Amino acid sequence: MALIIRIDVDRPYGKSPLGRHLLSRLSSDLWFPRINSFGYLKELQVILEMLNKRNARSYLFFRRCTLPSERIMQLIEDGQHQIGVHLENSRSFETFFQEKQLIERHTGKTVLALSKHGSGATKYGYRHYAPYEPERYIDWARRSRMKVFFGNLEDPSIRPNSGVNGFIAFPSAFWLEPDWRDTSLFPVDWLFSEAGKSDVVLLLHPENVLEKPELAEEFARLVAELPTKILS
Ligand SMILES: [Zn+2]
Repeated sequence: MALIIRIDVDRPYGKSPLGRHLLSRLSSDLWFPRINSFGYLKELQVILEMLNKRNARSYLFFRRCTLPSERIMQLIEDGQHQIGVHLENSRSFETFFQEKQLIERHTGKTVLALSKHGSGATKYGYRHYAPYEPERYIDWARRSRMKVFFGNLEDPSIRPNSGVNGFIAFPSAFWLEPDWRDTSLFPVDWLFSEAGKSDVVLLLHPENVLEKPELAEEFARLVAELPTKILS
């Protein structure tokens, strides 16, 4: 029984200060190069270093504008993390498959995990197709022999659905960021006790967690005290 850590890598340059926020928007809507000295994936690097120090493994979901740099790939190798697609253009199987191939070509790895960018209400940027249609993603993932889908519902007590050939879908997650969690029903202490009994998905976005010291501290405590797990 363990934490299944899901990290959605949404912003190439984080969200602060304003200049980096604008580079994140530009990268997402049009294009901007990956420049380490401008802090490309700086927040993810900090989170990966925290995880690797504790031998904690995670699933990392990338978009076309957050493809891992060389030093991020090294941290992924060191910590044996898993790479996934953070699906942006979910109009059709073909657009899904293009994004999967893009990540696979870039990383040289077979991608077995899928999550969706956005939960349906808001369109995030030019390439984003906003509707949230988990049944379609599960169908696409299974057709392309992926192993796991992570959904965006916010009630972490919903149990996963296991299917044939070892495929598993987690409809919901425990969102570390309190904006997407009923913190009175599901405080962080709930996660500590629940992860002792069953596998629970912990979802976070590096730039949000590092923005608030109390969140970063909670994350460090969770990773220090609970076992983590990759499904294989
Ligand atoms: Zn996202």
